Amino acid sequence: MLSKILKKSDCASCRFCCSFRRQSLWETPLFDLETKERLEKKFPSAHFRPVGKNSFTVDLSGGYRTDSPDEEAACPFLDSEKGCVLSAEEKPFDCKIWPLRVVRKSSGGKIFVALTTTCPAVNRLPFSEVQSLVKSGLGGKILSYALSHQDIVKDWRGGFVEIE
Ligand code: SF4
Ligand code: SF4
Repeated sequence: MLSKILKKSDCASCRFCCSFRRQSLWETPLFDLETKERLEKKFPSAHFRPVGKNSFTVDLSGGYRTDSPDEEAACPFLDSEKGCVLSAEEKPFDCKIWPLRVVRKSSGGKIFVALTTTCPAVNRLPFSEVQSLVKSGLGGKILSYALSHQDIVKDWRGGFVEIE
């Protein structure tokens, strides 16, 4: 969904958003039950844990080898050569919109689209370029999806920049 501003070549040399430190596990992508069951058959080594009311995410707890807070565990669907091995249909919405996120500042409060400022490729762009992409319709589509998939809504935290 962000192909207008994110090049495949940028991601091929990065993969930052497909590996997670322990303190970033709140960011792991969400799957619905049907997709999770399909992926369990296709990738028996992938493990899942429930999140929110109707979703599942990858369980990376067995992926750490040290106690270092800087250690990262890779998503089980990341291939070091090919990148993400999931089809467009299987790929989580979270991953399709990264580094955008749907966030809420307080319980029951309004939801909005925010930018996570940790994607090196998007960080190289003027913020106005990201903002105009979101405001030209993408933000509306993201918010519409989030209204019927509330589990993807994250709590506001430092590092987010509000867009729409
Ligand atoms: S952090 Fe950004 S540049 Fe890196 S792989 Fe993810 S989307 Fe691509
Ligand atoms: S599902 Fe694919 S894009 Fe998403 S974190 Fe895993 S490897 Fe990366």
